[in-house]
Amino acid sequence: MRNTVDILGVKVDKLNMSQSVNTVMEFLSENKLHAVYTPNAEIMMAAHRDSYLKNILCQADLLVADGAGVVLASKILGLGLPERVAGFDLVKNLFTQAENREIKFFLFGGKPGIAEDAQKNIMAQYRNVKIVGCRDGYFNSSEENNIIDEINSSDADILLVALGAPRQEIWIHEHKDKLKVKICIGVGGSLDILSGNSKRAPEFFQKHGLEWFYRLCKEPWRYKRMLDLPRFIIKVLKIRLTSKSKA
Ligand code: UDP
Repeated sequence: MRNTVDILGVKVDKLNMSQSVNTVMEFLSENKLHAVYTPNAEIMMAAHRDSYLKNILCQADLLVADGAGVVLASKILGLGLPERVAGFDLVKNLFTQAENREIKFFLFGGKPGIAEDAQKNIMAQYRNVKIVGCRDGYFNSSEENNIIDEINSSDADILLVALGAPRQEIWIHEHKDKLKVKICIGVGGSLDILSGNSKRAPEFFQKHGLEWFYRLCKEPWRYKRMLDLPRFIIKVLKIRLTSKSKA
């Protein structure tokens, strides 16, 4: 049974990175599709406002905290999430696992050419990893059936969906009944980084929970969306204070 904690109505798995990797590997032996999401504070806030999105996150088979904000929220609420499990790191760890096993990946999302560039870099770094298909993330609804056919006929085990959050979570949820893969993971901007087209925050920022600050400096136009990080923490603090005053 899953061991989860409740943060603003979303169940987050209480797992560290290696446990999360093991869980995904176990999904491979089960004959059904598993949805894996890695929300940050922005998405947790979006889910707080939008019950459709919250319901999607609550139906995940594995939901881990990608973001210092979510781990901080768990500390404030005394829930004890062990650590941040960033989607990008989770995917890299899965590639390491896949070096010694027959696991096939399909890369879906990003601008035209990004998934193919990511494929080249992944295959150069992880020599035995099998990428059986690539497809960009810019399409209209009339192309959707073809995309699903392409993914299904590739015989992929793991579909990495990089359409940006929350679009990728909604896409996975709305198409999971037609997909034959075993695992779908929403991976945000990971293909951009794997392709070499964008850089991850330096380790200092990652270690100190400041990846958001690095991103804000690099992509200042995101500031409106990013205001959800302080809003999220304030919301969690309010919950903490109310529960204390009731106790
Ligand atoms: N993206 C896409 N299709 C879209 C919108 C976005 O494939 O219609 C891709 C975009 O090219 C990028 C990724 O989604 O590679 C993540 O986008 P963003 O940085 O906005 O999302 P976040 O990292 O916040 O999830």
